[in-house]
Amino acid sequence: MKNAFDIAIIGSGFAGSLTAMIARKLGHSVVLLEKGKHPRFAIGESSTPLANLILEELSDRYDLRALRPLTKWGTWQQHQPTIGCGLKRGFSFLHHEQGRAFADDAGHRHQLLVAASPNDRVADTHWYRADFDAFLVDEARKLGVVYLDEADLWGIDVEQKRPIIQGRHRGAPLEVHAEFIVDATGPRGFLHGALELPEVPFKNLPPTQALFSHFTGVKRWDALHPSPDVPPYPVDDAAVHHVFDGGWIWVLRFNNGVTSAGAAATSRVANELRFAEGERAWQRLLETLPSVREQFAGAKPAAPFIHARQLSFLSGYTAGSNWVLLPSAAGFIDPLLSTGFPLTLLGIERLAGILETKWGAKDFADELFQYSMQTTIELVTTERLIAALYATMDDFELFSALTLLYFAAASYTESARRLGQPELAGNTFLLGEHPVFGPRFRYCVDIALQKPTRARREDLLQGIQQAIEPVNVIELGRAERRNWYPASSEDLFANAGKLQANHSQIEAMLKRCGLII
Ligand SMILES: Cc1cc2nc3c(=O)[nH]c(=O)nc-3n(C[C@H](O)[C@H](O)[C@H](O)COP(=O)(O)OP(=O)(O)OC[C@H]3O[C@@H](n4cnc5c(N)ncnc54)[C@H](O)[C@@H]3O)c2cc1C
Repeated sequence: MKNAFDIAIIGSGFAGSLTAMIARKLGHSVVLLEKGKHPRFAIGESSTPLANLILEELSDRYDLRALRPLTKWGTWQQHQPTIGCGLKRGFSFLHHEQGRAFADDAGHRHQLLVAASPNDRVADTHWYRADFDAFLVDEARKLGVVYLDEADLWGIDVEQKRPIIQGRHRGAPLEVHAEFIVDATGPRGFLHGALELPEVPFKNLPPTQALFSHFTGVKRWDALHPSPDVPPYPVDDAAVHHVFDGGWIWVLRFNNGVTSAGAAATSRVANELRFAEGERAWQRLLETLPSVREQFAGAKPAAPFIHARQLSFLSGYTAGSNWVLLPSAAGFIDPLLSTGFPLTLLGIERLAGILETKWGAKDFADELFQYSMQTTIELVTTERLIAALYATMDDFELFSALTLLYFAAASYTESARRLGQPELAGNTFLLGEHPVFGPRFRYCVDIALQKPTRARREDLLQGIQQAIEPVNVIELGRAERRNWYPASSEDLFANAGKLQANHSQIEAMLKRCGLII
């Protein structure tokens, strides 16, 4: 086998395969090294409007036509119905008090529904990763990526001009030489171990753990709790978050009868429930949340339970002169708000830009350094918000208000990109560089992390409204919406000025993107 390549990518999750495809399209020879074998279980399933938009833009820019249909529910069902997928119309949050049945009121003070799309056709998706990742690997191979699975890598030398990776491939010795190494092996992955990179503890998020599996027979929440009003979308056709003090449960339904579900919780809660005991701990958790227990009554695990003992992670280094960690290998915070995909895709987009314009250039390594800084800043910014959300899981009004910081930033970024004006969003996740929103966001998160007194809490609720105002293009936080936010073109028209656009530009954008017909 040829063993010298321009680029070696380690890890064939969606991120590794996508990067491999782009590198091939840019004319590089690429090897993709995977320790396992597809199809295989992988966690991290729920996409978002921004993630899908970046995937769409990458598909267009690098002519990855096979991927394009997978950026929306409608085209996915039309072109790739055999790849498992879930319909995601938005984010559903339901607040639970331990030991009590879920109860809501007319003001929806115990739920928050934020629509991400106006209809099923253009909706986001949950990726059934066993199918999705296998499809991407096949597509990468079709483009000429050399794919080696069951590769057991044990060493790397990046001091050489051409780094050398060593290991075994299906039992036979393997030595791969490459100019550049991309690590797509996830948190605490290959390069982290092989280069002995330091781990940097996050400052705000308490230690957290996760316990998860796939299930069959999970009941629909909206069938168990029909609403007298019409919600902005069916509550279960979404990423459902059951929030409780110290943690939360996700429920993601696929179209193949499987539902992904799991809990992320502070180590205090996880240890009390003894997450290490797997299914028994899951049952103990359900015992404390009667309405969730009802949803899972009769459900059966379809895969072994997985216990992630240490969920969050941040690498002290993200790049060298001839290697780089994708954001998903550089850090992870929590599944809450599904930030993993957009962060990873933003990183892939930036890395693709570097490979496209700086390969072989003197400042290649400088660009990697910039990439590395940006990745770390975005992970740390996200961590602060998620930590603030963990700190307020016992106060759903404040928790919901804080999520609006995310939804305002994400919807503004999505709209700016769709309008062809990404610079309005400063090209940073969560609008970190926005001159007004950025500092206000940081201020609000700081206050929330300090467990504010009652008076400061009121100030904070107002402060969040002020923070989001300049970028609030979907009327978040309006009292009359009672925590239910539809995806409405009228809201975008009303807020066109915040996007430096007029009514007809917004209309043209909505039509071009299929958001209105
Ligand atoms: C519990 C949980 C839930 C999550 N939910 C969401 C969500 O809903 N939405 C979201 O946006 N993000 C979510 N994430 C984050 C999401 O999982 C990641 O962003 C995403 O999986 C990154 O994809 P990837 O391809 O980089 O890595 P992975 O999917 O982790 O793939 C890594 C690949 O590398 C291979 N590999 C590992 N080590 C080696 C090695 N030494 N040699 C060769 N190959 C190796 C693995 O076998 C695997 O195939 C979640 C994460 C967790 C932990």
